[in-house]
Amino acid sequence: MDNPARARILQGMTKDTEILIVGGGLNGPALALALARAGHRVTVIDAMPETTRKDAGFDGRAYALALASQRLLAAIGVWSRVADHAQPILEIKVTDGHAGAGPSPFFMHFHHAEIEEGPMGFMVEDRFLRRALLDAMDDHPAITRINGRSVIAQETTDAATTVTLDDGSTLSADLLVGCDGRTSGTARRAGIRRAGWDYGQTALVCAIEHDKPHHGIAHQFFMPPGPLAILPLPGNQSSIVWSERTAMAARIHALDDAGYLAALRPRFGDFLGNIRLAGKRWTYPLNLTVATSFIADRVALVGDAAHGMHPIAGQGLNAGLRDVAALAETLTLAARRGEDIGAAPVLDRYQQWRRFDTATLVAATDAFNRLFSNDNPLLRVGRDLGMGLINAIPALRRTFVREAAGLTGDLPRLMRGRPL
Ligand SMILES: Cc1cc2nc3c(=O)[nH]c(=O)nc-3n(C[C@H](O)[C@H](O)[C@H](O)COP(=O)(O)OP(=O)(O)OC[C@H]3O[C@@H](n4cnc5c(N)ncnc54)[C@H](O)[C@@H]3O)c2cc1C
Repeated sequence: MDNPARARILQGMTKDTEILIVGGGLNGPALALALARAGHRVTVIDAMPETTRKDAGFDGRAYALALASQRLLAAIGVWSRVADHAQPILEIKVTDGHAGAGPSPFFMHFHHAEIEEGPMGFMVEDRFLRRALLDAMDDHPAITRINGRSVIAQETTDAATTVTLDDGSTLSADLLVGCDGRTSGTARRAGIRRAGWDYGQTALVCAIEHDKPHHGIAHQFFMPPGPLAILPLPGNQSSIVWSERTAMAARIHALDDAGYLAALRPRFGDFLGNIRLAGKRWTYPLNLTVATSFIADRVALVGDAAHGMHPIAGQGLNAGLRDVAALAETLTLAARRGEDIGAAPVLDRYQQWRRFDTATLVAATDAFNRLFSNDNPLLRVGRDLGMGLINAIPALRRTFVREAAGLTGDLPRLMRGRPL
């Protein structure tokens, strides 16, 4: 028998763990914590060493976490570790704009006071969120962590799923969860195909300091080459996600800091006073990549492994955390009923919960990007009138605010602030 883990199972020995999670980025640790707190034994494998993932300069992104995602992070013991670094999002302003021409008079303005629950969400920098998730896993005895090792093969039998790591060792479990990002090897090895396309856009990402306070207002300017998001961070700082056509983005990224700021200023305007770069600059090529199924035999996909989308509405991680909450709830209920957590009917329930919601979100982010990332005068008139209309109708505004806060749809318990 050339596979020791499989041999152990066939000999009736116990599996190494209940749930194997491939990917210790953001969704993997969140899922591990949700499951471990509900009594499951979990192992998380990540290809990168922990020191790299905890490095403060690892990823320049900051995330707009919807209120529902914040509730999940609180329920799994992570929020208290990042709360001091979080900036509440109190208002969102959406404007059609042109570089140098200033914003159009048509806009949408959403205020958190239109709902009772609180701020629509919070901005948190990647370095704080990632470290909080990793530290929280360190403190949980039911979570085993394997760092600096890649999964290179996987095999599923009726009774178990087994992965092989790049050092030749193997691990077996009842269920394998792929949280391994947009190019998920877990999905590929399970025979799950992906659909999607390249947007021909690249996101230029940086943080800036500004003279005037942002008052907790997030701005989205729709420019013909792509959206520019200005997202409030604690203090007089904001996170910039600036989408441009890929060739132009490469030219802007190649400029020195002064040239970069000179390119940003006309798009940005002067409403926050003088601006300066705070830290490094980053680029992310933008594409859409959705798995055609979120499950296979004893395999489930979560987060970007299931759906990598355009950052236009800042929904990627929020959608991943919804997967986390839905899968943790599905598995925990199944285990309490005595079901096999890797069995097809259990995984079907997870897929049914998440597929429709995800398809709607992916279609909406894609459509928004197409509608706004162009200079067609007819479309411009139509979208400006549409924005003016939505802004004028309180019931529609309230629906948008609830959507931005992640409070719509069939919310899993953890996102309603309830334990599993
Ligand atoms: C510019 C930009 C701005 C964004 N802004 C927002 C926002 O404001 N709000 C929001 O909700 N979302 C946002 N997103 C989306 C968000 O960044 C992603 O949804 C999120 O990072 C996905 O996390 P993940 O854990 O699913 O995957 P990843 O973070 O990609 O983690 C995957 C992990 O798997 C590991 N791995 C891969 N293969 C293997 C293997 N074979 N063996 C072992 N380990 C492996 C990798 O090392 C990695 O650590 C943004 C995205 C971009 C590009």
